[in-house]
Amino acid sequence: MLLDDTKRLHIKDLKINGLTTNRKKVLYRLKIFTVFDSLTYFPIRYEDRTELKKFSDVIREISVSSTGKVNATVVVSVVKHEYISSKKGKVLKVIVSDGEIRGELVCYNRDFLSNVFEIGKKFIITGVWEYKYNSLQCASFDYTSFEDDYKKDEFGIVLPIYSGTEGIRQRTIRKTIHLIVNEFYSKIDDELPEYVMKARNLLPMGKVIKILHSPSNLKHVEIARKNFVYYEFMKMNILVEYNRFQEKKIDKKQRYFSTSLADEFISSLPFDLTNAQKRVIEEVKRDMFSCKVMHRLIQGDVGSGKTIVGIYAMLVAVENGYQSVLMVPTEVLAVQHFINVSNLLGNFSKKHNLNIRLFKGGMSSQTRRLLSIEMELGKSHIVIGTHALFQENVNFRNLGLVVIDEQHRFGVEQRAKLVMKGNNPDVLVMTATPIPRTLTMTVYGNLDLSVLDEIPYGRKKIITKWYKENDAEIVYSKVKEELKKGFKAYFVYPLIEESEELDVKSLLDAYEYLSKKVFPEYKIGLLHGGMTPEEKYSVMERFKSGEIRILASTTVIEVGIDVPDATVIVIENAERFGLSQLHQLRGRVGRGPYQSYCYLVSFEKISKEAVERMLTMVKYDDGFTISEVDLRLRGPGELLGYQQSGLPEFILADLFKDEDILKLTKEDSRKILSKDPDLLKLENQKLKSLIEREKEKISVVKSG
Ligand code: ADP
Ligand code: MG
Repeated sequence: MLLDDTKRLHIKDLKINGLTTNRKKVLYRLKIFTVFDSLTYFPIRYEDRTELKKFSDVIREISVSSTGKVNATVVVSVVKHEYISSKKGKVLKVIVSDGEIRGELVCYNRDFLSNVFEIGKKFIITGVWEYKYNSLQCASFDYTSFEDDYKKDEFGIVLPIYSGTEGIRQRTIRKTIHLIVNEFYSKIDDELPEYVMKARNLLPMGKVIKILHSPSNLKHVEIARKNFVYYEFMKMNILVEYNRFQEKKIDKKQRYFSTSLADEFISSLPFDLTNAQKRVIEEVKRDMFSCKVMHRLIQGDVGSGKTIVGIYAMLVAVENGYQSVLMVPTEVLAVQHFINVSNLLGNFSKKHNLNIRLFKGGMSSQTRRLLSIEMELGKSHIVIGTHALFQENVNFRNLGLVVIDEQHRFGVEQRAKLVMKGNNPDVLVMTATPIPRTLTMTVYGNLDLSVLDEIPYGRKKIITKWYKENDAEIVYSKVKEELKKGFKAYFVYPLIEESEELDVKSLLDAYEYLSKKVFPEYKIGLLHGGMTPEEKYSVMERFKSGEIRILASTTVIEVGIDVPDATVIVIENAERFGLSQLHQLRGRVGRGPYQSYCYLVSFEKISKEAVERMLTMVKYDDGFTISEVDLRLRGPGELLGYQQSGLPEFILADLFKDEDILKLTKEDSRKILSKDPDLLKLENQKLKSLIEREKEKISVVKSG
């Protein structure tokens, strides 16, 4: 059977000698319910008890260790008992000798040991040794009598240590897990073809599991761990690459022949493109002109000018007779983008009779019907909208290109749905979540990558400062300076309560305070999730036009909103935000040629991690560095959201530590598929069924 098949074997149904009801209960308490759970309940660490040491070795090792402590196993005989006095009373100290040198076992809270350590008797001691008070001491140790058999099995081996829970002894956990491992490991079949395993020198899966639970030395642990990681990554990569090869095969016939309209648009812009924009436009053009469907991801920090690239691609589609769609995650953003794009294309679209349309959920059914008809007749050229575009009754005449902005907000299935609306449209995804390259390859494995690694010329670095609550007055006066110069300001508040009502209330309190006490002379607007899209849109418009000079908001302004003369953003309770979110928020300012400021205001006392986040924001302004720190602090699951990213949860594999193996499996899967893209060869049948199983899993998750 395959490892995955053991998920169907429940502990409650198992009949194994020694696996008593009590032992089963132990497993349940550890949240182990299936054979799979037990086999993959890997030790959290190992204690090497294979080698017996002399105290002279231990002393030498301590002298070169950076911590001054050494874990070692020593055979000793008991010399005498002494007591030292401490604040909490007398503490037993057992003086032992290895025949040459003496050492001391300090027995905090273990007075019963005076009965165990009989004078003259021999013991094996494993523990952490250090040099203290002029003697070799050990306060944390495990022991067994040299003569008795009890616990002998825990010495002379590499002892696996399992994660436990209160009231269950290590020994019990280990014995119970081993009962199951020993029963099943040899029955586990391999999921990879033999030639793949041979090429990478992989051990059979069953053996890998056995070694991880009871290794004969630490080197084997390392090898087995790497093997297991290879299996985990390979399973993911072969699927990602298989899909990629399948998509690559889709021939769209050549659709596009000219770019004169798009080029004219670029030359009509009041600024020059950055070199990065030029390069990425070339990459997009190449994809669009090829006979294969485009699947490209554009990664660019906030403000790097992704929209222009998107518009360029849409115009290429339009001038060659195709419709295109720009899809965004929220209605506010849809409206914003609609205004932006309409402004950027202003006279240009009049001159060329371009129809740009906004399509969103909140519209009346009649408007929507009219728009749908237009789209179906091919009369609208560029449609900007939210997921409302997925709806069953929306159709296009000839959708050629889908541009998806801020992609990390879209699930994989949503993407697929929209793609189905057209006849294999080209897909361009744009994201400001700058994640490290290997991770990108994994998460967006079936997309080609373009990076906009340049911020438009003349943009000034945003000055970021961190203040404590008590210094809020300083921040307010700095904001006033900007307002006096005619600029605009954002105030952002975190979601504090679980309930929207309470959040709105705390935002309202802040609004009261700002408008009555701090900035009575300015008009302040409010923006929060409880408002209708129309209300939000109207507030944004008044902010853009300057009627409102200060915008107090929850995080709804996080993505994509573009008001170039807003030069200051104050983030209140900044300690409550994650790094990536802070960076996104900061990106709301510094979008024009003016010097901009970001003020982080936090509680007086905040956690160590929060301090690190604040300092990172003050020090760095590029999204890549910030997301690296974020990943380190939180891990990829948190940052990307496993659900959204489509990343599986790995048991042992670590996307960062095991980057080498990740690359290896990527290469290997590409090599296999380039020779046999449909996996038709006999030798690849195991992979074919692996892919079918994984696909099934995904569809179960989706519908579940
Ligand atoms: P993002 O990558 O965050 O989506 P946008 O596309 O919204 O960035 O661009 C941010 C701002 O910079 C917009 O106002 C846009 O018009 C402007 N912009 C884009 N490219 C350039 C450029 N090459 N030079 C100057 N300004 C630019
Ligand atoms: Mg954008």
